[in-house]
Amino acid sequence: MHRPDSRNTLWWIRSDLRLGDNPALDAALQEAPTLALFIVTPAQWRAHGDAVVKIDFWRRNLLALAAALADRGIPLKFLSVDDWTALPRALARFCRDHDVATVHANVEWAINERRRDTEVAACLEQDQATLTLHQGATLLTPGTVVTGKGECYKVFTPFARACRERLITAPPRPLPLPRAQTRGPRAPRALHGAQTAGADHVRHADRPGHVIEADAVPDEAAFLGRRKPPADKLRDLWPAGEEAAHRRLDAFAADALAAYDTERDRPDRDGTSRLSPYLAAGVLSAGQCLHRALAANHGEIDSGSQGVRTWITELLWREFYQHLLAAHPALSMHRPMRPETDAVPWRDAAGDLEAWRAGRTGFPIVDAAMRQLAATGWMHNRLRMVVAMFLSKNLLIDWRAGEAWFMENLIDGDLAANNGGWQWSASTGADAVPYFRIFNPESQSRKFDPQGQFLRTWLPELAPLDARAIHAPASEQRRRLGYPEPLCDLKETRLRALEAYGNLRGPA
Ligand code: FAD
Repeated sequence: MHRPDSRNTLWWIRSDLRLGDNPALDAALQEAPTLALFIVTPAQWRAHGDAVVKIDFWRRNLLALAAALADRGIPLKFLSVDDWTALPRALARFCRDHDVATVHANVEWAINERRRDTEVAACLEQDQATLTLHQGATLLTPGTVVTGKGECYKVFTPFARACRERLITAPPRPLPLPRAQTRGPRAPRALHGAQTAGADHVRHADRPGHVIEADAVPDEAAFLGRRKPPADKLRDLWPAGEEAAHRRLDAFAADALAAYDTERDRPDRDGTSRLSPYLAAGVLSAGQCLHRALAANHGEIDSGSQGVRTWITELLWREFYQHLLAAHPALSMHRPMRPETDAVPWRDAAGDLEAWRAGRTGFPIVDAAMRQLAATGWMHNRLRMVVAMFLSKNLLIDWRAGEAWFMENLIDGDLAANNGGWQWSASTGADAVPYFRIFNPESQSRKFDPQGQFLRTWLPELAPLDARAIHAPASEQRRRLGYPEPLCDLKETRLRALEAYGNLRGPA
């Protein structure tokens, strides 16, 4: 089964922190004795604005992955690279040192990552090594679900229909967990002396940039720098590892999937899967999720349980945004899908932005959602839409400020889904909400949290108010309970947004 020459193969771990259903790992193991590598790039994560809670989640998952790989005789190495531009050469050097002929990785679609991969492939070629990319991030390969004109769909419904047709004839068959490898990789040449001496960190002064190689998951400081790690309470909400992810998927399938269509919009209930951090870090694959959903629906994608069908539609929204990101590199640069919306006269209103970020807008549903985000690293989907629309329409603040704040705080921060969600809410995106359909936060609150239970959880100062008053407290109640007055008038700001968008040239 293995290649006849004696060189090793590398599984380069990126946003696919799992052993199950991992095409890159599977291909590596089939080819030759395999080792695994994760590259720690804190400067790049800071530049992306990745949240502490997300980086910490990745590190905790790497600890779980390290144990699972050790059980299978697959060595896991780490390279800490503080200069992103040095990464291709550092990786090529690593491959030379470890006698690696092929690097297998799952594709990432953001533009920086694609450029990185092109450079890595070029560097490896100089050493007669290759980079092979696999489809491990999506259900279907971006670029293969296209309109009659051969273009990526810009409208969700026909995209989802085309996906369903493909998926029903070829449903996902997730790859099983790999077995232990019987023959481990050959010992590295250059590092042999250092490792037998018991060192688990090797500093390479001669390597490009500042590069540290390690045999164990680097400490928190290597991932987070001086930033404070999240509290244990928050970590407990999001247990790491594939087993934890599958337990969550199983529990969701057993308890909530059937009623997902009716419960999913209720932030006061536990109606959604909360699997997004696991999907974003690749601890779980979309194929594993779809497979589980189909199993709960006798293999049906278009009939049977409405709960299952609606959940599959949400998985397809994830798919849609990944395909759009692959087709439109400008999205990686945070450009709007509808260029005419760049002419919206966004307000430069630092105080309003700060109140929104801090959950002090005086609109209880907005503030409760923003506090849920700060405390848990996650926000309910309905509320993501509510707060995003409030920022981009009522406050008329550039959606990119909100997109960046989400990235800095979300444990599931994902460029494609976050950008897609913000562009949907701000009416700048493909198949976005029409600009004149502006959610009223008070009505959303009354409709989706009728008893004010969610509000009471996150705004304890409003807990004494009854279900009628809590969604929009009177001035006297606000004064008494120490809760701010509304930051703006909903009617006036709605009209301002309608005018700002209505004046745009082109089809906003
Ligand atoms: P479930 O309802 O159980 O759905 C299952 C999975 O489907 C999710 O885990 C997610 O992977 C995917 N999914 C569901 N809804 C969407 C959607 N609308 N768009 C894309 N994928 C979806 N999701 C992220 O994973 N990362 C983000 O950074 C992100 N930012 C968002 C920003 C805004 C402004 C909005 C409106 C939405 C954003 N979403 C993002 C999408 C969605 O809110 C979350 O995926 C969802 O709330 C996660 O909760 P869940 O796992 O319980 O989802």
